[in-house]
Amino acid sequence: MALVDRAEVLARIDLGELASEICGPPVGRGRSARWHCPNPDHPDQHPSMSLYNGKHGQRRWKCHACGEGGTAVDLLMITSRLDAGQALRELASRAGLHPAYDTRPVGAKTVPARPAPATRSPAARLPSPAIERLVAQTAELLWQPAGDGARGHLLRRGLTEQVVRANRVGFDPGPRRLPRPRGLPYHGPGIVYPVLDRTGVAIYYQLRYLDPSIAATRKYDQPVAELAPNPKLALIRAPTAPRPGPLVVCEGMPDALTAVHSGLPAVAVLGVAHAGADSAPALAALLAGTHPASAYLIAFDADPPGTTAAHRLAAHLALQGATVARVAPPPDTPDINAWWQAEPAALTRQLIATAQILGGDLNRAALAVGPPGPAP
Ligand SMILES: [Zn+2]
Repeated sequence: MALVDRAEVLARIDLGELASEICGPPVGRGRSARWHCPNPDHPDQHPSMSLYNGKHGQRRWKCHACGEGGTAVDLLMITSRLDAGQALRELASRAGLHPAYDTRPVGAKTVPARPAPATRSPAARLPSPAIERLVAQTAELLWQPAGDGARGHLLRRGLTEQVVRANRVGFDPGPRRLPRPRGLPYHGPGIVYPVLDRTGVAIYYQLRYLDPSIAATRKYDQPVAELAPNPKLALIRAPTAPRPGPLVVCEGMPDALTAVHSGLPAVAVLGVAHAGADSAPALAALLAGTHPASAYLIAFDADPPGTTAAHRLAAHLALQGATVARVAPPPDTPDINAWWQAEPAALTRQLIATAQILGGDLNRAALAVGPPGPAP
């Protein structure tokens, strides 16, 4: 049984500091400081959350727009999907209070808890709720007139509305039109490619800049590590649930969003560097551990770095006992998405044929999803 003194933990936690870490820096100072609401269901454009002293002397927060509020425990619960006990223990360790585990024999003398060494704050290891908030706002903007250009870009790439919506792809107009805390990409406009957890909550995203002068030097941007660690892999949601079968492993989000149009499940590797010589074993273990599949189809870019990375990842997946095949775009076709734009039916045929050779279970009904093209 964990022995944590709730009142002592709350007395030691600086709620303002915790709020700034989770919600981004406040607008205003002192008593008039306001933070963006931490409630993931409340996209708070103008900061509506403030702090006050509760009846029992505990610092509390309240959102004046949606009514959510409470202590530091409630703040962690609403933003990190922890239960009350877990949130209290996280705060205790953050405050340097060991949650002492009661292993004493009955009647033994009480030993005061030793303070724990300072560790990285638990909140920093969790994805910031600011990410889910920005993804929700930008996913809505994509379908408004402001998102016309971004939507055109996606449709020209052959991505269907169903796949774009299922994966909550969005349009970021930039910080002037859409404020955000420090640490999130701010050179927009650009397209937001979110990484979703299994419940559909955004835990990370990549921003692809639409301005060619920015994209020339920096094609993609992402939240700083303090707001969310790079998850390395992003599982793409198919508009119709694919049956368990071969998993298509792509280089980057646009290619993986392309691959799900075949009806096969797809995952994006967020940066080919994760399949580098030193990191490929860990990536293969992560892939096999978090996305177990009957087989893996590696569909990286056709350039030399992509080809080398594909062979390396295939070798390490095989060492994990997995069945692996590589699907490469035809000559002069840089990647899966370019192939899809040129010959959608040919890409689908190649993926399905390779999956059948590997003996996977296919969801042929999902083949109907995709831009109009010659029937496979
Ligand atoms: Zn609120």
